[in-house]
Amino acid sequence: MNEDYPLFAQDFTGRHQDADPGGRTFRAGRVARPDSRNGSQVVSASACRSAAARLLVAMLLLAASGCARGKSAPPPQSVHWLCMGTTAAVSAPAGQSARVQRLRETVGTAFAEIERDLSIFLTNSVLNAVNAAAGDPTPVPVNIHVAAVLRHALDVAKAGGGAFDPTVGPLMALWGFRSGSVTHPPAAAAITETLERVGWRHVRLDLTDPAAPAAALTRPGMRLDLGGIAKGYAVDLAYDRLRAAGDTDFLINLGGNLRAHGVPGAGRTGWGIGVRDPFHGDRILGTVALREGEATATSGNYERFVVLDGVRYAHIIDPRSGRPVTGVAGVTVIAPTAMQADALSTTLFVLGPEAGLRLLAAFPGCQALWVLDEQPVRTVSSPGFVMR
Ligand code: AMP
Ligand code: MG
Repeated sequence: MNEDYPLFAQDFTGRHQDADPGGRTFRAGRVARPDSRNGSQVVSASACRSAAARLLVAMLLLAASGCARGKSAPPPQSVHWLCMGTTAAVSAPAGQSARVQRLRETVGTAFAEIERDLSIFLTNSVLNAVNAAAGDPTPVPVNIHVAAVLRHALDVAKAGGGAFDPTVGPLMALWGFRSGSVTHPPAAAAITETLERVGWRHVRLDLTDPAAPAAALTRPGMRLDLGGIAKGYAVDLAYDRLRAAGDTDFLINLGGNLRAHGVPGAGRTGWGIGVRDPFHGDRILGTVALREGEATATSGNYERFVVLDGVRYAHIIDPRSGRPVTGVAGVTVIAPTAMQADALSTTLFVLGPEAGLRLLAAFPGCQALWVLDEQPVRTVSSPGFVMR
């Protein structure tokens, strides 16, 4: 029996629609159109929505055909909603629609909680209180969610030699990911100046009293951006709450950050997750099986980007150079938790396969697949990354 349920290890139904105040939305190339007025690329929200609808249809067709291969196996039941500028979903075995709605309540509450605390787009988030105090060495009180994510982010930053950096905020703004006003790539001097305001070593996380964590950014103008890790944490929080309530056999997805429990139906052996082909949004490269409690995350250069002077720049920036990463189209990670998978997929995207494989050895239970940004398509994976 085929147990695959070809959900992509990627969200493709309107992910990351971080519309800026000017109304510009950065996302996949297929809906982008060049704006000849200023050399930048403008993507309209309505174009995003219709493209999202097409991609959703593509997903459903793939899911259906995958399940048809399983002959008698009915497809799992899912509910989707928009959250954190992307698509959230929870799935359970077929015939459990009331239960799926109940799961959605718990998962939706957890996601909303994390968005409220960790969003850089909500001015009154806990994270933005820390950002607003940048330059003041007195730590600002945070809560357990911010402390837990920041702690893990700093650990990964250290382990990866700064390839992952939760203070990447000023670089995201410099390259135009936070406003529609950037039309040319920044000058080298501007990058050098901005790098003065970036650096995980300038973050102070005070956990002396575990019940009252606090954080400070020691340089003025610094800005935390936890976009590379927060969704994974949100998935783990939802997963833990469902497990604490005794729930089994479910799959949680937040913008391509997935964590699975149990099986998608009777007689099946686990959740099969399709790994999206970065060059063809409606195709998969293969499927990976998530074992009990495992998670997967994908970082891609096609999710969000800006086009400056006719050149496309992906939304993952190498904090060591201050420039967007090139050469990698996508990285998929399998890890014991969604936060680990999320942080690692961003880190390994920056490091590339050679340094990335060395780093991966320090993370037990983690596997990765790189799809390089070249034609014909070339992939590199860790020995334990098994795809069918
Ligand atoms: P992901 O899709 O999980 O790889 O996260 C990408 C997001 O992480 C970006 O949109 C930024 O918000 C943030 N980001 C970009 N570059 C980095 C980096 N080098 N380290 C940490 N976060 C980053
Ligand atoms: Mg990530």
